[in-house]
Amino acid sequence: MRLILLGPPGAGKGTQASGIVEKFKIPHISTGDIFRKNIKEGTQLGIKAKEYMDKGLLVPDELVVEIVKDRLLKEDCKEGFLLDGFPRTVAQAEALDKVLYEYNMKLDKVINIEVDKSILVDRAVGRRICKECGATFHIKFNPSKVEGKCDVCGGELYQRADDNEETVSKRIQVYLDQTKPLIDYYSEKEILSTINGEQPIDKVFEDIVSALGCEK
Ligand SMILES: [Zn+2]
Repeated sequence: MRLILLGPPGAGKGTQASGIVEKFKIPHISTGDIFRKNIKEGTQLGIKAKEYMDKGLLVPDELVVEIVKDRLLKEDCKEGFLLDGFPRTVAQAEALDKVLYEYNMKLDKVINIEVDKSILVDRAVGRRICKECGATFHIKFNPSKVEGKCDVCGGELYQRADDNEETVSKRIQVYLDQTKPLIDYYSEKEILSTINGEQPIDKVFEDIVSALGCEK
């Protein structure tokens, strides 16, 4: 099962990714993670990537694709993988297609978790985090027992500075604008499955599994 998972910040992508990799026994390949790993281990690719990042520059597509390719050719990806955070653009998607074609691999599905923007903003703006232990709460959907206090450790809860309505709204819009061409790209290839991410977590997962043509 070779999959790509798409979804805006706050769509619950992380939770669904964990469920998918567990059910299908495939590695979860998050580009953020493989970048950090390459840099930490000081691989050639990591050193190159770090040069750009240290200068505050975006890592160029060719290098991103190299790093992803290097990961996809590892033994544990033989039976499939779940790509998360890549591709972000059509150019990257085309580069990925080339790599997969070259190694005789084929994408099975692109899962797109869709959630209305106003709901995403709500989810982010109501988020509260514990200063002590990092536990997260939500003033509406998952409130702490005592307002402003962590259920786990009693620490003080705070709102991240960039979880205000304006910043969140902008962040989501950037994502949506950037991803639209990508979604069209996979839609034309008829491998896109759009999943309603406004449902309860379990139902979202159920829909993903059935979109993949599997039983629960
Ligand atoms: Zn806490």
